[in-house]
Amino acid sequence: MLILGSRKIEFRNAPESAGREVIRVSTAHNRPQPLRSTEAFLFEGGAPPEGYRWYIVSEKTEIPDSISGKPSIIVPETFEYLADGDVVRIAPQSNELRAIYRRSSSHNSFLVTERCNHYCLMCSQPPRNVDDDWIYDEILSALPLIDPDTSYLCFTGGEPTILGDRFLKLVQASKSFLPRTSLMVLTNGRTFSDDRFSEKLGKVAHPDLMLGIPLYSDLAHIHDYVVQSDGAYDETIRGIINLKRHGVPVEIRVVLHKETIPRLPQLAQFIARNLLFADHVALMGLEMTGFTKANLDKLWIDPGDYKNELKEAVGILDRARMRVSIYNSQLCLTDPAIWRFTKRSISDWKQEYMAECDGCSVMDQCAGFFASAKFRYSDKITPVPEAGINAS
Ligand code: SF4
Repeated sequence: MLILGSRKIEFRNAPESAGREVIRVSTAHNRPQPLRSTEAFLFEGGAPPEGYRWYIVSEKTEIPDSISGKPSIIVPETFEYLADGDVVRIAPQSNELRAIYRRSSSHNSFLVTERCNHYCLMCSQPPRNVDDDWIYDEILSALPLIDPDTSYLCFTGGEPTILGDRFLKLVQASKSFLPRTSLMVLTNGRTFSDDRFSEKLGKVAHPDLMLGIPLYSDLAHIHDYVVQSDGAYDETIRGIINLKRHGVPVEIRVVLHKETIPRLPQLAQFIARNLLFADHVALMGLEMTGFTKANLDKLWIDPGDYKNELKEAVGILDRARMRVSIYNSQLCLTDPAIWRFTKRSISDWKQEYMAECDGCSVMDQCAGFFASAKFRYSDKITPVPEAGINAS
């Protein structure tokens, strides 16, 4: 039995053959029989339909006789969010159930691997050199189960392209099963310094693909220091160029911290002069997770103290007619002249506001804070009075 805090998940009447599997959750009473035999019915009361492979029942619910002899998964209240169309991974042997896709979320991400060839100072998902090839198989199993009307999906890591041609197969499968879904891939871009690999990705011709690639300085040694890997800068720049040559959209991502801020305007100039063909530039506030906490002394700079550098960088990119956005920023710490570039980028479930925000007139436009920001955040937070709105 798996203990999640004080919570328990319990499998009952599991078929002997049952192992780890990826399965779609359904609440439909009229689901065609062949689909029922591969899905899990989420019991919400009433008479449950026959023929589902699994029945998911809340521990609060009295289990009806019609389910009690069937393969069932008893879940604690913490799984109340489960809903029709979600996709879960189950492992009866270890009493595990985990939602890997939630149909109601607009921020579904798949971690493709924990392995990475970078060791970034502010990595939010510290890499581990482990054999996690099973994740690839799991994602391939999940893609056909995902609602084809899903607007957005993200592949992240680790470094997804470490999978080589299997990464390309994931993109191909996404295109085949989810042709209307925007696909974002977060990659350090180095694998694409191999022009043939870039060409192969271009030939997949995914209809709505974007590669998010970090670039931390106009100077190679600063970028290589931030990602803790010699030679990274040259390969990343070559990767960006190769990708664009083969028609793959690229978003350049810059995380804003003490190592990147001093030359942010110079980096903006470098991008505007040399990478003008990039499709988007995202300037991103720091998230207090992973290695960031351990390296906070090296990284922390109060956003209120880099207002000028951010404004200058945005101005350079905007005048070059590049698409530029500011993510994870607080409006009161950002020059009103560039408020129009800010996005409410923090996922709902991570987004918070501080007590200092009480009474702020632009709260509904402000990205707010990551829940993790309580660890360290600006002491310059100042609610914006009603008149402040006009400043933008
Ligand atoms: S005070 Fe207003 S602008 Fe500042 S962080 Fe809070 S909500 Fe955002």
